[in-house]
Amino acid sequence: MDLTLHSPLTALPGVGQARAKALAKLGLSAVGDLLAYFPREYEDRTLRESIAALPLEEPVCFAAVVAEPFRTSRVRGGMELTKGRVVDATGQLSLTFFNQSYVRQALQTGQTYVFYGKVTGEGYRRQMVNPSFEREGANALTGGIFPVYPLTAGITNRFLTGLVRGALACLPQVAEPLGEDLRRQYDLAPVQAAYRDIHFPPDWQALARARRRLMFEELFCLTLGLTRIRGRRQGQQAAPFPRQDLGAFTARLPFPLTGAQRRAVEEAGADLRQPTPMNRLLQGDVGSGKTVVAAACAWFAWENGCQTALMAPTELLAQQHAKTLEGLLAGSGLVVDLLTGSMTAAQKRACRERLAAGETHLLVGTHALLSEGVDFPRLGLVITDEQHRFGVGQRAALAAKGGQGLHPHVLVMSATPIPRTLALMIYGDLDLSVLDELPPGRTPVATYLVHGDKRQRLFAFARKQVAQGRQVYVVCPAVDQEDPEGMKAAQQYGRWLQTQVFPDLRVAIVHGRQKPKDKQETMAAFAAGQVDILVSTTVIEVGVDVPNANLMIVEDADRFGLSQLHQLRGRVGRGQWQSYCVLLSDSRSETTRQRLRALTATNDGFVIAEEDLKLRGPGDFFGARQHGLPQLKLASLEGDMRLLHQAQAAARALLAQDPDLAGHPALRQRVEELFQAQGDGFN
Ligand code: ADP
Ligand code: MG
Repeated sequence: MDLTLHSPLTALPGVGQARAKALAKLGLSAVGDLLAYFPREYEDRTLRESIAALPLEEPVCFAAVVAEPFRTSRVRGGMELTKGRVVDATGQLSLTFFNQSYVRQALQTGQTYVFYGKVTGEGYRRQMVNPSFEREGANALTGGIFPVYPLTAGITNRFLTGLVRGALACLPQVAEPLGEDLRRQYDLAPVQAAYRDIHFPPDWQALARARRRLMFEELFCLTLGLTRIRGRRQGQQAAPFPRQDLGAFTARLPFPLTGAQRRAVEEAGADLRQPTPMNRLLQGDVGSGKTVVAAACAWFAWENGCQTALMAPTELLAQQHAKTLEGLLAGSGLVVDLLTGSMTAAQKRACRERLAAGETHLLVGTHALLSEGVDFPRLGLVITDEQHRFGVGQRAALAAKGGQGLHPHVLVMSATPIPRTLALMIYGDLDLSVLDELPPGRTPVATYLVHGDKRQRLFAFARKQVAQGRQVYVVCPAVDQEDPEGMKAAQQYGRWLQTQVFPDLRVAIVHGRQKPKDKQETMAAFAAGQVDILVSTTVIEVGVDVPNANLMIVEDADRFGLSQLHQLRGRVGRGQWQSYCVLLSDSRSETTRQRLRALTATNDGFVIAEEDLKLRGPGDFFGARQHGLPQLKLASLEGDMRLLHQAQAAARALLAQDPDLAGHPALRQRVEELFQAQGDGFN
């Protein structure tokens, strides 16, 4: 039987049903999948010159002669130790194998072998334990750069490497999606060579070239797909908002707009004048004042007889927004209303009736806004806050409520400071406004990394803040003691703080497993200054705005991501007082402490997000992938800006000539595959 890219993996030697099942867990089902299953990293098993020069504690490859027969002895616990010596012109090295007595036969005295392993110990303790080895010239395990693949139970790297080698037989069947001119223009390797070299690079340069080519292809196809989505949108109709009296809006504000806010409002305003839907991402660090920009857009909608929906990810945040916006707009004639899941059926009905009657101009809410029966007679603008917490499908559902064949304009706000590169990829179909300036008069939050044994002093400090009239947050990683891994739990720790540490102060606990009503009552009490110390989980992470709180204590800070800690820190520093963020961690790991120190060094959310991204990788950045766009296998997000720009330029140029990719069937197929894998077909 001829092997093709579409053959099942069972067509390869050594793959039965059990292994096929294990491989399926890695997303591998056809032979072609193996080619696109890229190594996680590589091992440098190229030959080093001499035993004398071998580095310590670093995997290396060298050739040597077996100097004496290997001997096996039994040690405690029935373990077998097989030892011997190998030599070259520069010196000798002891080799030790555990429970591998077969090496006595395999390593023949006087013969040369190539070994791969780590040298440990110095002086007479210098040795290598359990190295891989093969006869000189075999070149199956050593003597080159070897791929290391992501694995699963039952699949070894060696086995997978063998499968990929087998799959290379199908390489001639891989069609080249990139035209020759394009490859020449951007100096890109041909597709078959790129697939071969990304698995088995002859040298590091060839590897870099292969990666660059495949990354370019990924970014190019992504851009093509996104541009087509954008093009489709441009065929859509939206209600234009020609009347825009920004002066009347700003006259209501207790402060002038920052330069960045003004710019963002103008950018959005220009989009909103168009009869095609705006699709804009408003990105700004915690406290940069996104709400006011959203309010200005809602103002424009209202001036033009349209309604606005503002969707927040949590009930708390929705309430907070409704309150803030009501405060800003009171008496203007623009009516704000709130719809959340925890309202009574009667309240919800009344809210829906006001909306349907056109009495409500700006409806703030949670997912409840998406539910059946919420009818906007004239929805002109949809704003979502913290967009990455919504699925793309939900965004679309809200947009579909436009009615009358009109699509609402869309403004997406994100407080998660997404690095620009990532934003471009994830929101490639959105225009971007950035609030890169905080309102004036903010003093940066002083941040400290502190060991748990300083807790008593910290409590005294908290007490002092409360005595001065301020309020304090204490954030724990877990809700309940029953939660795994001995993390500080809000319930028990909160109770302890209340009874043992601050019996004379007002301590309250809020966490995600409480009833929404209880949560809200506690938050409202804290906002009203009736609670001194709020012990919580990360439910307070986004949006909560209590300017009187000036101390944020995070327990077990090492349990949180940097961006998450930055969001938490953003809960303080909102008022006129000097604010503090104290990160408690007992971790002794230097990398962990180093990571946390990044927060003490900067208040810039973008710098922190970049740092986070470096440490965790883009896949993790949003936790689950909720943005609904193709997963990029290769393109890392640092340093690939140039390549992204090149890919974008190339995509634009191509689409100008061939908008439907009719003349580029292989490419068209690649783009469709990339988007279809997400169930997000783009045709
Ligand atoms: P975020 O971008 O985190 O959503 P908010 O919209 O909640 O920020 O604004 C944070 C705080 O800054 C609010 O208390 C708001 O009233 C205040 N604020 C917003 N814009 C300005 C401004 N131009 N000047 C002064 N204060 C402002
Ligand atoms: Mg906000």
